[in-house]
Amino acid sequence: MSEKSKYNFKCLEQQCTTIACHIRPTIDVTLGDLTRWTTQGYLMNILPGVSLKLPESEKDLISLEMMRKPLKSDPEKSACVFFNEEANGCEIRYSRPLSCRAYPLEYNGEKYYLSSKDCPGVGQGEVSKEALQEARDLADQAFKERGSTYTALPAVYSIIMTQMIRQSTEAMKNLSEEDRKKMDEIMSKPKSSEDEEESTKSEDTED
Ligand code: SF4
Repeated sequence: MSEKSKYNFKCLEQQCTTIACHIRPTIDVTLGDLTRWTTQGYLMNILPGVSLKLPESEKDLISLEMMRKPLKSDPEKSACVFFNEEANGCEIRYSRPLSCRAYPLEYNGEKYYLSSKDCPGVGQGEVSKEALQEARDLADQAFKERGSTYTALPAVYSIIMTQMIRQSTEAMKNLSEEDRKKMDEIMSKPKSSEDEEESTKSEDTED
């Protein structure tokens, strides 16, 4: 029989009262998650719920995270876009990101720790040594994948942006003289066409 560990955890799933994992401020997505979703054939179902977060300050990094939506029961709070409030559960439970699979155990490169005090599953059930090892392996993998994602994303972002700029420059070069004139006109218009229409209407009324 398996030996028991001191880390006790059992997810309460739909009976959970705090939904701490679904409402935590950031739910990281890694490049590894994208690879797994691609291999499993779920990428296009999950991708609309993933956003690329650009740095807001020098300290921030480019990251991938789950999009959020306000809770119907408490619009002041938001949850992961895949949280099904009626069912009180995750809509992509079997393909959820690594950070959710590892939750609430985290690893910071030196030690394992609990990422939340609000998870009521902590202290519940009994975790065998094997299950503890599995939980640690997931936390370890999440730490590594987060690191490699933070490292690779700026380069990936830069490649995509460069490509887009190159394509739009190329498209501009290939414009016909007539289209280029139209484009110049649009770009040099001081007002929007709606404003233009409005002012024409008012001129008509004045007459
Ligand atoms: S907060 Fe904890 S117990 Fe509740 S659903 Fe999330 S992992 Fe399970």
